Amino acid sequence: MIKKLIIATANKHKLSEIEFILKDSVKEISPMPADMEIEENGKTFMENSLIKAKAVYEKIKIPSLADDSGLCINALGGKPGLFSARYGGENLSYKEKMQMILEELKDKKDRTAYFITSAVCMLNEKYYIALEGKVDGKIIESPRGFEGFGYDPIFMPEGFNMTYAEMKAEEKNLISHRFIAMSKMKKILSCIYEH
Ligand code: IMP
Repeated sequence: MIKKLIIATANKHKLSEIEFILKDSVKEISPMPADMEIEENGKTFMENSLIKAKAVYEKIKIPSLADDSGLCINALGGKPGLFSARYGGENLSYKEKMQMILEELKDKKDRTAYFITSAVCMLNEKYYIALEGKVDGKIIESPRGFEGFGYDPIFMPEGFNMTYAEMKAEEKNLISHRFIAMSKMKKILSCIYEH
């Protein structure tokens, strides 16, 4: 079992979600130092995760895990993608961001989209694990549901008749892109730190 893992995030919600998934395979999970600021200037989700995991490892010298996620809409060339949090400008609410996306998709036949999480665990100076979790789905015509956050009300995962925002947190957390990525990470960490 891995003794200590630092999660490269200042987001408490994300920290508790990751803790929940990894709790049986890590003895102690801690957030990165609160005063640490990391510029996410990568060109891909994976680059951003690597930047964050490396920065935290270099400072603390303890295995560090980072993730980066976003919504990619095929008819919009993958947007909002890396800019999911800032799409349409920092001051736009998610209600407005979703409205903007629905407007952009108005005449498009293809409404397929996916949520992706890339995760990197920096194990030491040299080696890291990098992987992804992806959930395919579609953007529905108008927002549905009040659970979750961000783009949840317009995203319906494949095989379901409800949006992420119509699912209870416990349900979403068992099928989400983040869950898929972190479950894979858990399996690999359990193999590496078997004893
Ligand atoms: P992060 O990298 O996990 O912080 O995600 C970046 C952005 O992607 C968030 O600010 C949201 O806009 C969007 N996003 C990521 N995961 C989700 C999700 O599960 N539901 C809705 N939006 C999400």
